Amino acid sequence: MAKTIWDEALEQFNKAAKKLNIDESVVEILTNPKRIIQVSIPVRMDNAKIKVFQGFRVQFNDFRGPTKGGIRYHPNVTLEEVKALAFWMTWKNTVVDVPFGGGKGGVMCNPKEMSPGEIERLSRGYIEAMHKFIGPEKDIPAPDVYTNPQIMAWMMDEYHKIEGHNVFGMITGKPIELGGSEGRGQATAQGGVYVLEEAVKALKMTKPSIAIQGFGNAGMTAAELLSKDGYKIIAVSDSKGGIYNSKGLDIKKIIQIKKETGTVTNYELANKISNEELLELEVDVLIPAALEGVITSKNVNNVKAKIILELANGPVSTEAREKLYNKGQISIPDILANSGGVAVSYFEWVQNKIGYPWSEKEVLEKLKKKMIAAFDEVYSTSKEFKVDFGTAAYIYAIKKMISVLDWRGTMKKG
Ligand code: NAD
Repeated sequence: MAKTIWDEALEQFNKAAKKLNIDESVVEILTNPKRIIQVSIPVRMDNAKIKVFQGFRVQFNDFRGPTKGGIRYHPNVTLEEVKALAFWMTWKNTVVDVPFGGGKGGVMCNPKEMSPGEIERLSRGYIEAMHKFIGPEKDIPAPDVYTNPQIMAWMMDEYHKIEGHNVFGMITGKPIELGGSEGRGQATAQGGVYVLEEAVKALKMTKPSIAIQGFGNAGMTAAELLSKDGYKIIAVSDSKGGIYNSKGLDIKKIIQIKKETGTVTNYELANKISNEELLELEVDVLIPAALEGVITSKNVNNVKAKIILELANGPVSTEAREKLYNKGQISIPDILANSGGVAVSYFEWVQNKIGYPWSEKEVLEKLKKKMIAAFDEVYSTSKEFKVDFGTAAYIYAIKKMISVLDWRGTMKKG
């Protein structure tokens, strides 16, 4: 049977837990979600008929603070997937050191086939069904696949109606006008760039060449930031395919073409390549920023990049990470590489709490500090335990979590 996303999440955790030799009971505490909420959401559709949607929220654990994680709208969302993503968030929030536990939500729906009014009513229905379980000190949602600042604004407005007053900190990823944070849009890519700069320094590389898979929020923004910083980007791709020019690509032009025509493949000063070929290019840095499971034991031996920056969630399998490490390559794991998004979500929550917005400069300075600190911890853990960065990130996070359990008395015997 094929490995599920939950199997993959557990495999990575168990590998690190084994290195730390932690007690079976602690493994049990940390691998079982605290709370699973499943709701039915009746929505009046535009044709006046009622359709009932299934919604989920998993609050994996809140030992380090209120649970936090996005809400995904997708026809194939399952409870198992949401559970794995909530588990992942627990470790991502710990690695980047924001005072949150892990959570995630999802609704089985196809927003591409729904009108804005239907999406609004569904989003309000989700909050009506979930409001008892969420809040700034309980569980704080955010955008994920096919949810956006507008949906966050509707959700906050619905919460306001139920509570009778504004509670800005109950959700993040909001529009700036409604308590959103400066810098949130670029946060994931920017956080990844800060981490990459540290890795480049650690490996004593100078302005390496870069290939990026995926040209959406994460990939395109990373391409834009890196080209502004003077890096040579030699290949990019989207779902229609990739383009390659060993002399470098004009990213500004490609962004314009992507916006106008919907795909990067219409850029003419480059050769066409497939998404699979992009992963195997002769390049210094590879940034998978689209899908999960693109580098596995099947193709890992053909990957030549010295650094792989996992901007997507789950693009490199646990097994492939170890193989890369054994070949002298570094795969910077997703829970570190793309944690800039949740770091700025944390800053948004803090700004809402104190009622005082920070400038973009202040937000990015704080983000940089957090990303560098997290990279340093993972790097030194990798050296100490002689393990790949993925395992190191989990070891570092599990150690931090165990010390919290210790202080709380959760592990006291007798
Ligand atoms: P997005 O929808 O904005 O962009 C996805 C991109 O991937 C698009 O360019 C699309 O054309 C491309 N793509 C789709 N199928 C592809 C294929 N088969 N081969 C190559 N490219 C393909 O999504 P995003 O927000 O950029 O997210 C991308 C990844 O980053 C996801 O794994 C997401 O979970 C992760 N991530 C994003 C954020 C964020 O803040 N945006 C935060 C954390 C993690």
